[in-house]
Amino acid sequence: MINPASRTKPIELSQIRKMFEITNPNAINLGIGEPDFNVPENIKQAMKNSIDDNDTHYTPNKGYIELREAIVDKFKKDNGIETNPDNIIVTVGASEALYMCAQAFIESGDEVILPNPSFLSYEACVKLADGKIIPVDCKMENEFKLKADDVSEKITKNTKAIMLNSPSNPTGAVMEKEDIKAIADLSMDHDFLIISDEIYEKIIYDKKHYSPAKYSDNVITLNGFSKTYAMTGLRIGYLTANEEYTEELLKIHQYNIACASTVSQRGAYEALTGPQDEVTKMVNEFKNRRDLIVKRLNEMGYETVNAEGAFYVFPKIEDKEFVQKAAKAGVITVPGAAFGSNGQNHVRMSYANSYENIEKAMNILEERVVNG
Ligand code: PMP
Repeated sequence: MINPASRTKPIELSQIRKMFEITNPNAINLGIGEPDFNVPENIKQAMKNSIDDNDTHYTPNKGYIELREAIVDKFKKDNGIETNPDNIIVTVGASEALYMCAQAFIESGDEVILPNPSFLSYEACVKLADGKIIPVDCKMENEFKLKADDVSEKITKNTKAIMLNSPSNPTGAVMEKEDIKAIADLSMDHDFLIISDEIYEKIIYDKKHYSPAKYSDNVITLNGFSKTYAMTGLRIGYLTANEEYTEELLKIHQYNIACASTVSQRGAYEALTGPQDEVTKMVNEFKNRRDLIVKRLNEMGYETVNAEGAFYVFPKIEDKEFVQKAAKAGVITVPGAAFGSNGQNHVRMSYANSYENIEKAMNILEERVVNG
């Protein structure tokens, strides 16, 4: 056995995936992090056409120019971000974009502020780049919204970057505009980078999404097609940053994957420029399910924030055995502690499952876990 690098050895594989592998296949899965919808028909057709047209060769490293132009238009229209096609990189999901940010900007001695709890990949990407994690609690009393004042306390001369994720995985919290703006101002005053993961931007209820890149030049904005267009397996995302940052990011992308899949890029172009009715339908359905799951959990006595985005709720559940008991009874959930120490005494439940299944799952929890 050849020794792996000291950088990779301490990293653990995701416990979430492992858990799905060992549990009862008939269980209702509220552990999952992907939409239960399929790719809209118009997007599928665009990808079929790509194959039939033999449009299956390499694209430019940064992606097709038509797609990058469509992304520029999207950033302007949805986010108030002025960019241009040279400063866009089409990536293999937001996952690759995250990894690129860490590899291009983080090194030994750098401190990276991470919301606690947050998406598992953030910690792994920072560690793989030798950075030091500085957690900042997203408190339940603030509905898990990251607050600029709490961030401000964590800034030192070694602060290199902060990860923002609104709406959030795992809490569904949507940050307030004033906090986004205040953190953007801090990034300019203290010279650190904001890596803004906006992948759940469109899955938001009665609330507006704000991008820090509108207020600061020290921002890399990440997004993708996995959640909004249910394109998880097609592995396609994108980022934008200023010219200097984009050039550094491109070095990691170019020598790692050359370019994102041509077929997926054609699908992504159709996703952005075609009709958006399927997105609206999906978000309305998510909202109905959110209303149901929050109501049922609160009725069972598990204090649950009425999360304003993404497709997760993060009830307070102090029973240490809850996740195992629920799995045995037939409902898969994820322990909140998997997302950071501040996730302890919480459980992440995803409502990317049908309304009927969520109802059934809540009945099972009520009968067999709460009253069992
Ligand atoms: N960021 C967050 C917050 C996520 O939840 C996910 C997917 N679970 C990703 C990024 C990665 O998405 P992609 O499929 O685009 O790589």
